[in-house]
Amino acid sequence: MARDYYEILGVSRNASPEEIKKAYRELALKFHPDRNPDKKATEIFKEANEAYAVLSDPEKRRQYDAYGPAGFGQRYSEEEIFRNFNFEQIFKDMGINFGFGQGGDEIFGSIFGQGMGRQRDVGQSILYKMDLSLNEIAKGTQKEIQIRHLKRCERCGGGGAEPGSKMGKCSACNGSGRVARTTNTFFGRMQTVTVCERCGGKGKTYEKRCKQCNGKGGAIASERIMVTIPAGVSEGMRLRLDGMGDYGADGNGDLFVEVHELKHDQFRREGDDVYVHVRIPFYTAILGGRITVPTLDGDKEITLEAATQQGKEITLRGGGIRRLRGAGSGDEIVTVDIDLPKVLSQEQRDLIEKFRQSDQIGKKKFGFI
Ligand SMILES: [Zn+2]
Ligand SMILES: [Zn+2]
Repeated sequence: MARDYYEILGVSRNASPEEIKKAYRELALKFHPDRNPDKKATEIFKEANEAYAVLSDPEKRRQYDAYGPAGFGQRYSEEEIFRNFNFEQIFKDMGINFGFGQGGDEIFGSIFGQGMGRQRDVGQSILYKMDLSLNEIAKGTQKEIQIRHLKRCERCGGGGAEPGSKMGKCSACNGSGRVARTTNTFFGRMQTVTVCERCGGKGKTYEKRCKQCNGKGGAIASERIMVTIPAGVSEGMRLRLDGMGDYGADGNGDLFVEVHELKHDQFRREGDDVYVHVRIPFYTAILGGRITVPTLDGDKEITLEAATQQGKEITLRGGGIRRLRGAGSGDEIVTVDIDLPKVLSQEQRDLIEKFRQSDQIGKKKFGFI
């Protein structure tokens, strides 16, 4: 579960930007992998980075305070959290000189599990593309999805050993997880270090492999997950579900749900506003009256004033999409299109003719005979 950013940095909720900076600097000095090679330290450092990326940005901090850890995690992907956040510059400003070579990729690099330089068994993150209708986006929704991911093997608890089988130091690598090999090449003797094949870099082996997963610790499984989609999401946005990706001994990957907005046959979306056209008979445009307009909540009757002109826009306040960030909803903008009859009965012709005869202003303005 997402931890509280203030807690991670060890500051109070009303800490000043200077206090936050100072707290982060201290953590970075203590837990940066260049200073502290411990796996736990790297995890703490990564958490501190995320916390600082959010709390050092006034807008993100405001959102975080408003929605809390869980709500914020749904609204901001990891990518968004670290956007415009330049570690190199930040460390420079803080007067810290860290290297960015070894392990750099893992901490600062891609969120999709590429570039994992070290022997850490973190599960892959997975991406699920979800189609959403405009109505679902407008109000938010809950959807059950089915994903296939690597799940921790229940039989061996993810360790890969058959229950009851003895664990021991890997004899091939003497527990280090790495094997040095010396080969003779044209340039002389060369030593290469590779991951131990026998234990897969774990440094431990067991007598018998787990029957269920064949020693892998995880198995592909289908799972149904309920996903809550907040209102107001937009095309391409990614929601992160912590730890719902592939199983890994050092931590699961995350599941990212990518939003795809389906085209609506009536409404057009622009930001949080929606646009729609309605056709009304010409006599209603002239005389005014009740008309029916489609809304995201179904059809609604509104009053049209007399002498409504072609193309008039009527704004229904709050009839749009609920805002993802901030309060309230966008508007619905209805454009009125006036329908002229294509066929007239004799009686209707006579009535229109009568209207023409009586229209003194029209005569002058348009030069009717
Ligand atoms: Zn197993
Ligand atoms: Zn080994």
